[in-house]
Amino acid sequence: MEKTRSVLDRYPEYRMDIGIEVHVQLNTKSKIFCSCSNAQTDTPNKNICPVCSGYPGVLPVLNRQVVESAVMAGLGTACDIQEISEFDRKHYFYPDLPKNYQITQNDRPICRNGHVMIRLEDGTTKKIRINRIHIEEDAGKNMHSDMTHESYVDLNRTGTPLLEIVTEPDIENAEEAKAYLKTLRAIMQYLGISTCNMEEGSFRADTNISVRKRNSEKLGTRCELKNINSFKFIGDAIEYEAERHIETIERGEKILQQTRLWDSKNRKSLSMRSKEDLADYRYFTDPDLSLVEVSQETIDRIAAELPELPFAKFNRYKEEFSLSDYEAEIITSDLSLTRYFEELMERYPGKSSVNWLLRDVLGCIKEQKQLIDECKVTPHKLAAIVKMLEEGVINNKAAKEIFDIVAQDGGEPEEIVAEKGLKQIGSTDELEAIAKQIVAENPQLVEQYKGGKQNLFGFFVGACMKATQGKGNPKVFQDILKRLLG
Ligand code: ZN
Ligand code: MN
Repeated sequence: MEKTRSVLDRYPEYRMDIGIEVHVQLNTKSKIFCSCSNAQTDTPNKNICPVCSGYPGVLPVLNRQVVESAVMAGLGTACDIQEISEFDRKHYFYPDLPKNYQITQNDRPICRNGHVMIRLEDGTTKKIRINRIHIEEDAGKNMHSDMTHESYVDLNRTGTPLLEIVTEPDIENAEEAKAYLKTLRAIMQYLGISTCNMEEGSFRADTNISVRKRNSEKLGTRCELKNINSFKFIGDAIEYEAERHIETIERGEKILQQTRLWDSKNRKSLSMRSKEDLADYRYFTDPDLSLVEVSQETIDRIAAELPELPFAKFNRYKEEFSLSDYEAEIITSDLSLTRYFEELMERYPGKSSVNWLLRDVLGCIKEQKQLIDECKVTPHKLAAIVKMLEEGVINNKAAKEIFDIVAQDGGEPEEIVAEKGLKQIGSTDELEAIAKQIVAENPQLVEQYKGGKQNLFGFFVGACMKATQGKGNPKVFQDILKRLLG
């Protein structure tokens, strides 16, 4: 694969230091501190109550499932799960935060000191250290109407449980950042604790980036890129920021510590606020919530129930199904795709099935903007098509035709073969008779072919295929014709 180009190719004396904070929205049934539904809804302020709306005098009650999800996330990223952790209040004033403070974990997070292994384009792996994972609640949403110039607040999202996963600044370029985010998202998806849908904001990344000369020990001044909702944009934003930082330093100017937004349309970052305006959050322990205790017994139980995670699956697929790194990487990057793949392998294993999945199924869902689960060519239908092809019942052209019909309108591959008469003319005797007739009908061309016009061979194969209305096996025809024209 071609190496991704980077701004560092132009400034080899510099390096980047990147740390990423990810907010993962948990898919628990109810919210974190009340019994309101945690389901997404389009009706504003539908799933709210006095607790998540911040009425005075109410008491939060911690949802046990949130703690279990956090332990799963911690185990999935090789963290030490803390026996005791604690909730704090983080104060800020914003219309979508009715209590005027967010309940989060500051000094004593639930998980510490983990890591995620990432795989790079050149086939090497790298360990990205996780500093911490803490539990917190989400805020609501402000909505601004361009029509009336009024602002509204929707509190459905207040009290949605979040995990914030924070890395050490181990990431050195855009490629590593994207690889880390893809891997982390796959882990959370596999664990089943979040939909990790980036468009819906269930998986949000804040990227801290700074640059320094390679020979310098001291980290440069960092900027934070807020909430960018696609891996590609995050990569673009990192490249842009690194270039901006390097050019600022090269001009002899200072970099200001800032929070910045990515304008994906104009492909540049914009200052949102500088460090001077950063709030003092006045953290203190939340007196309404007791310490969170996680026993070793609980950790052991959850560890025993943990599903197979992306890295393990990647290695197993390579071993068990002889996949290349590239194939295993694509398939294991998405949980639904692994389900499709495993079902396909159960029904019709082999290279041919893998190729049809990666080329035709992925191509098809991309074109139709579908999720893999929405594809009408289900694993059992694809297996049926590939099986008929491999067993010589149909040829490649017919297989593609059947695939397209199923992808468009559904239907059973075997029935389509029968209906459309796509069965390959199989018996060699039958094909031999056709080939003999074509040869007999074209004595002049046979003469020319034998005289050295090698490219006429294609004409004979084509004529044979035409005589069978495309249902002959071109490979068999080639063998016969080679013999007849020999
Ligand atoms: Zn509520
Ligand atoms: Mn946070």
